[in-house]
Amino acid sequence: MQISEIYKSLQGESTYAGLACVFVRLTGCNLRCSWCDSEFSFYGGKKMTLEEVLGEVCRLSRSGGLVEITGGEPMLQEREVVPLMARLLDGGYRVLLETSGERPLAQVPGRVVKIVDVKCPHSGEADTFDMGNLNALRPHDELKFVLSDRTDYEFARDFVSTHNLGERVRAILFSPAFEKTASGARDTSHCLLDPRALAEWILADDVPARLSLQIHKLIWDPAAKGV
Ligand code: SF4
Repeated sequence: MQISEIYKSLQGESTYAGLACVFVRLTGCNLRCSWCDSEFSFYGGKKMTLEEVLGEVCRLSRSGGLVEITGGEPMLQEREVVPLMARLLDGGYRVLLETSGERPLAQVPGRVVKIVDVKCPHSGEADTFDMGNLNALRPHDELKFVLSDRTDYEFARDFVSTHNLGERVRAILFSPAFEKTASGARDTSHCLLDPRALAEWILADDVPARLSLQIHKLIWDPAAKGV
C-alpha cells in the first residue's frame, strides 16, 4: 500500500484524545476539503508491504496500544487496508479508522472503531456522505462534523436529529475548523469558528454532541507535521 507516514504521537481528536497512538497515514484523497490540514498526503509517500507496515507499528508500540489508520482517505486502498486492520486487531491493537464518510464502510472489520466525517456545506465537499454508511455504524463508532460557521452548525445539528444519531454511536464530535495555514500561536485564535460560540449553540439547542478541539494543535505548533 502507499504510505505517507507512520509515527507515534498523542491522539488529538475523538474520545481517545490524549492517549498515545501510532498513526498510519495512507497516501491519496479524492476529496478537497477547504480547510484540509493534510494536503501533503495527497501525493507521494512510499510503497510498503503489509508486513513492513506491521513491523513499523510494532517497533513504535507494543501490542495493546492504540493505532489510527488515517490519510488522505485510507479506504481508497480498501483491498490492502482491510487486511491490515484485521492483522492489527489479531495482534492485540485497538484500531481506529479515520475516514471521510464518502467511501463504503461495510467491509471494515467490526471491532475497528470508525471515526466517520460527515462533510458540512462550507467544507466544499457537502453531499459526499454515503448514506449507506449509517447502516455500517456500530455503537462504539464516532461521527465527526468539522464546522466553519453557523450554517455548518445548523446542518450538523439537523443531521444528528433527523437520523437520531445520539442513540446510535458512542460520540458525535462537533469540531471547529482550523485555518489550514495556521502556525505560531498554540491557542484557539486560529479556529474558523469560535469554540465559545459553538459551546453556547450546543447548550442552547441541547444537541447530544461533544465539543471537540484538536488538542495536538494546542500542544505543538499547528503547522507541525508528525505530531
Ligand atoms: S477528506 Fe480528509 S484528507 Fe481528504 S481533503 Fe478532506 S480533510 Fe483532507
